[in-house]
Amino acid sequence: MQLSGKRAVVTGSNSGIGLGIARELARAGAEVVINSFSDTSEDHALAAELSAETGVAVRYIQADMSKPEQCRALIEAAGGCDILVNNAGIQHVAKLEEFPSEKWDAIIAINLSSAFHASAVALPGMYAKGWGRVINIASAHGLTASPYKSAYVAAKHGVVGLSKVTALEAAGKGVTCNAICPGYVLTPIVEKQIPDQMKTHGMDREKVIKQVMLARQPSGEFATAAQIGGTVVFLCSDAAAQITGTTISVDGGWTAL
Ligand code: NAD
Repeated sequence: MQLSGKRAVVTGSNSGIGLGIARELARAGAEVVINSFSDTSEDHALAAELSAETGVAVRYIQADMSKPEQCRALIEAAGGCDILVNNAGIQHVAKLEEFPSEKWDAIIAINLSSAFHASAVALPGMYAKGWGRVINIASAHGLTASPYKSAYVAAKHGVVGLSKVTALEAAGKGVTCNAICPGYVLTPIVEKQIPDQMKTHGMDREKVIKQVMLARQPSGEFATAAQIGGTVVFLCSDAAAQITGTTISVDGGWTAL
């Protein structure tokens, strides 16, 4: 299989896009480490289910990606990795002048700094093997902005910049780094925004989805976690060996507008 013999670490992968990425990597034959900040029997059961479903080894390793030392310990506990997908992320929506400082700090730590810390530990092993993939999950908000998402937009623009620097430092070593920029994908992070948007716009759920969220997405459809996972698998292929330091939008045309 395409990724047999490769080990992948996907941060923030016990739900949503991360889980979709982990599933596609496992289906392509990679050994996979899934992660979140919790350490429940469900987390470990999820790894066992994914392993049973795909026939590859899947481990769950707990690490809080808001903590630099835990980001670094995750890669060490995994035994290094050939493929690192920096996916963990959170959201908070508020006017800039009312944005809580602790939410700003948490978003920058989880959505941006964790990618730096995990990459710093993972890259030397990739360089030693002469092959590696660092794939950062940014967002359409890494390329464009929306009001009330100051920390998220700042962090995701930061992720795009970090991806370019990583790519330049890794160039010529068999290691690529890119950022995937999804538009809206219907996952828990998006579900949680719907009630607030209903209140703000005085609309029902259906209207918020169609007229607010998907208004930015010309296809009129959500992207799926499996599609983001498929894009990750493509970036791990030989066809993508010269794709580095760039962004790949999976956004139904959002950033073409
Ligand atoms: P989600 O809420 O379903 O998943 C987020 C994941 O991150 C979960 O597994 C959660 O447990 C984990 N996580 C949160 N805090 C963590 C921490 N401190 N330590 C470790 N793990 C932590 O959301 P999602 O939509 O799957 O988002 C995944 C990534 O995709 C995020 O970076 C998000 O910004 C990005 N993204 C999502 C969308 C979308 O529309 N859903 C669009 C663009 C980008």
